Amino acid sequence: MHIIVIGCGLAGLTVAIALKRGGHTVEMLESAAEISYIGAGKATVHLYWLSSRSNFVGIQVSPNSSRILRKLGVDKFIEKYVTEPIDLKMMRWEDGKMLVETPLKEPAHNEYGSPYWHIHRADLHRGLLECATELGITLHLNSRVVEVDPYGPSLVTKEGKRYTADLIVASDGLNSVCRAVVLGKPGPPVPTGQMVYRVTLPVRELKDIPEVKDLITTPRNNHWIGPQGTILSYLLEGVNETLINFVFTCDVNMPDGVNQKIGDNKEIRASFKKWDPRLDMILEHVDEVLEWRLYTHEEMPTWVHGSGKMCVIGDAAHAMTPYLAQGAAMGIEDSAILGGLLAKFPSKDTLHKALLLYEKLRLPRVTKVANESINSRYFTQMPDGPEQEERDEYLLSHPGVQVGHRNNRSRKEFLDELFGYDAYKVLETASI
Ligand SMILES: Cc1cc2nc3c(=O)[nH]c(=O)nc-3n(C[C@H](O)[C@H](O)[C@H](O)COP(=O)(O)OP(=O)(O)OC[C@H]3O[C@@H](n4cnc5c(N)ncnc54)[C@H](O)[C@@H]3O)c2cc1C
Repeated sequence: MHIIVIGCGLAGLTVAIALKRGGHTVEMLESAAEISYIGAGKATVHLYWLSSRSNFVGIQVSPNSSRILRKLGVDKFIEKYVTEPIDLKMMRWEDGKMLVETPLKEPAHNEYGSPYWHIHRADLHRGLLECATELGITLHLNSRVVEVDPYGPSLVTKEGKRYTADLIVASDGLNSVCRAVVLGKPGPPVPTGQMVYRVTLPVRELKDIPEVKDLITTPRNNHWIGPQGTILSYLLEGVNETLINFVFTCDVNMPDGVNQKIGDNKEIRASFKKWDPRLDMILEHVDEVLEWRLYTHEEMPTWVHGSGKMCVIGDAAHAMTPYLAQGAAMGIEDSAILGGLLAKFPSKDTLHKALLLYEKLRLPRVTKVANESINSRYFTQMPDGPEQEERDEYLLSHPGVQVGHRNNRSRKEFLDELFGYDAYKVLETASI
């Protein structure tokens, strides 16, 4: 089949690769005028952007998604830029006192059969793009899709160019124009009431602060959990040197109408000034902060248009909160399933059935993960008081991973389901 993928983000590139490997002809349309990977700011911190500045920073790739990237052959393009966190630590917000520790590296290899990676988004994106290019996937930049006919199917770009295909896979992200086409009504983003401050800096700049030695030398997933907020830090293997990446999450502290902006370190230092003093020592070294309002959208009842010739994937289908670090992972899983189904059932005659099976296999899993992500927000962001004290005592007396654990990051059966998910096993038994 001839398939058009709209949007060249992490989900779009992964699905394009999966579809191409399944024997289809794939063309991608991306609104951004260029994809560049540039050195900026402090010469050694490489930044890049596509259309989205979220690409400034790191991303966690859990075993359920690293398994797919390896199977698709993306690993060879990114391997040298990944770090593997040994564990996930949850600490008290004001002093960094350890509450619970969950191993990541060892179970990823020995139980889930694929590594847990941290990687700079630029490197992951570049790796996907290199893989797509090597496979001969055609990419049209500066091609914002403004109109879609799901019955053709065909689409028109802002330059007035029309494209037709056998299938349109819409991977146009949170602000998708295609979501409304599939729904038959608007499906706008919905604010979560929270925002993130995102910071990446070379660890070299922090080497003279003895208090932060563990944070800049040991690859971990460090979480400070506090009232209406969390902070996450982890190390990244940058192109030139090791970086440390932070995600500071809190209730929205941005002017109305602003969704993203570049700020300096004043607001973030003020917002988190009572937190673990080590954080302020680090923030002193930060000049530029990316401020990003968090949105989701209402759960879609279906991801497939009634024409049977168009579907949504990734954030276009299920932009979720980031508290479990699974948004892109779900888009990567979608890609493996859609690509695998259309490799197994490659005919136009069975396309509609295959798309409905894609939705059936994916929607319940994504809904569950999205709901657990919301649960994680409320579990970790309790205001100080009796409920938080009881939670902290529980965490201290229930270390590591346990069946029935109240913290989903330590709940054995949830982790098995989340990280143990093998899209390729699901495909083995899939039939239409
Ligand atoms: C703070 C934060 C931390 C996160 N951390 C993690 C994490 O650690 N692990 C994880 O798995 N996930 C994480 N996520 C989620 C992850 O970032 C997203 O789920 C993922 O990037 C979505 O990818 P996508 O390809 O679906 O959409 P996008 O990345 O939004 O890509 C959409 C693409 O479509 C293009 N486009 C849009 N409209 C059009 C149009 N009309 N025509 C043509 N092109 C168009 C855009 O330019 C863009 O390139 C996090 C999210 C946030 C907010």
